[in-house]
Amino acid sequence: MGYTPTPLVDAQGRRIAYLRLSLTDRCNFRCDYCSPANHENPDHLLTRGEIARLADVFARLGVRRIRLTGGEPTLRRDLVDVVRDLRATPGIEEVALTTNGHRLAELSRPLREAGLASLNVSLDTLDRDRLLRLSGRGAFLADVLEGIDAASAAGFPHLKINTVAVGGVNEDELGRLVHYAWDRGASPRFIELMPFGNGVPVPTARVKEILREQGLRLAPDEKRGWGPAHYLREEGSDPPRFVGFIGALTENFCDRCNRARIAADGGFQACLGGDSRYNLRDLLRAGASDAEVGALVREALSLKAPRHRMDEGGARLVLLPMMGIGG
Ligand code: SAM
Repeated sequence: MGYTPTPLVDAQGRRIAYLRLSLTDRCNFRCDYCSPANHENPDHLLTRGEIARLADVFARLGVRRIRLTGGEPTLRRDLVDVVRDLRATPGIEEVALTTNGHRLAELSRPLREAGLASLNVSLDTLDRDRLLRLSGRGAFLADVLEGIDAASAAGFPHLKINTVAVGGVNEDELGRLVHYAWDRGASPRFIELMPFGNGVPVPTARVKEILREQGLRLAPDEKRGWGPAHYLREEGSDPPRFVGFIGALTENFCDRCNRARIAADGGFQACLGGDSRYNLRDLLRAGASDAEVGALVREALSLKAPRHRMDEGGARLVLLPMMGIGG
């Protein structure tokens, strides 16, 4: 009480208003390009109460939007309650979720009713066997597609289908994935592969070429949202239909970065490509005040680099596993 902090700004003067929060480092998929942590002991995870407390602290530091991710966030049994808690946090204007979609058939409606506004579903292929090869034996396409239909019916204001284009794996179906998303009222987006695991990246410029080769008529001029994605419109579409692109490596957008991350174990991560020396869970469990949490977050942000270095050097960078950080 009596704690009225000024909004968070990082070392480069970038305002931090968006927090990505990983609910678990476990996942039932084993995507080749992602690195699972799969801790067995749930004690290392932030509890529902700790998440609510952090949301409140960050809201008072100027965060307005929180995206829940993982690992696979729908593996958390208290997911719907967490969404409800975050929606009830003064200052938090939007709660979002990123998921592999396998539990959306049952969870879409409760999540929407709890106030979730933005839902991103990851989908790299529409081929059942290919999904098994890409994401492991637990990845059942039928569940994911049923989940996306349920999400579409639940009426989320923002529904996106995110695809990572992987060289030699799914380039032949990128256009089909765009139409699949459009047909369900969702926005298709392509995310460039980052060096967290295996797989050959397909640069954003090449993804656009492939889409045109596969018959999409994409207008040349871009539209920008407030996040890292830019969008191309389908020529002549009315109402307009867009395809989004996030080129983290070939189209660096660090100068517009407005986000920070909390890993599943409470590690505060100022940059996805940076390290995570500051643990907020440990701080909370040691009895820290809100002001002390805020001070630690400011210190971490004061060290945030101007840009990530994932695209530098020939050697693969050793980065923290995507699973724990929450991509
Ligand atoms: N399990 C959830 C899901 O599948 O969406 C949330 C976590 S997952 C880490 C979030 C997103 O990161 C997914 O869209 C996934 O495809 C993406 N991702 C994972 N590893 C990646 C990599 N190496 N490069 C680019 N995107 C990656």
